[in-house]
Amino acid sequence: MKIALFGSPGVGKGTYAAKLEAIYHMPHIATGDLFRAEIKQQTELGKKAKEYIDKGALVPDEITTGMLKNRLDKEDCQNGFLLDGFPRTVKQAEALEGITTLDAIINYFADDEVIIQRLSGRRLCKKDGSIYHITNVPPKQENICDKCSGELYQRDDDKPEAIKERLEVYRTQTKPVLEYYE
Ligand code: AMP
Repeated sequence: MKIALFGSPGVGKGTYAAKLEAIYHMPHIATGDLFRAEIKQQTELGKKAKEYIDKGALVPDEITTGMLKNRLDKEDCQNGFLLDGFPRTVKQAEALEGITTLDAIINYFADDEVIIQRLSGRRLCKKDGSIYHITNVPPKQENICDKCSGELYQRDDDKPEAIKERLEVYRTQTKPVLEYYE
């Protein structure tokens, strides 16, 4: 199955994807994770993407679509995948049709106040990317990953100004993707 998980930032796509990946053994392809890996490796793509990500803006469609195509071309994606955070614009949805076809889209939904509470308390493991929340899903030991003992951190774009911008971007640029698929 080729599935896209859809919904606003902080709705839980990454958390559900990790659970689905463990059950169905499908690769979890998150464009946000791909960008964060590029930033960590300080590649040219990563440096360019960081300028947009830190502001809470979307990375331009051509950069994002090219990066995703390279990932979906890999062997492990040939029998299916869980796409998380793509497509985020109608242009990306159109471009995806030239790359592959989807079997299903799952749309997750939560009220803004829940989203803001989740994003502002979210913490990630520096080593394995596991997702925690300071009150909803706290690690057993403060700031330490339960699974690999890696240090937890807060994403720069999970800070208040960037959260506001990301929710606005979702409303104006990403929500129309739902109508496109309907
Ligand atoms: P995420 O981890 O899905 O919240 O993504 C983090 C950031 O990466 C987003 O706020 C965007 O700046 C960028 N990003 C991730 N996916 C996309 C996409 N499909 N199109 C454009 N930018 C993206």
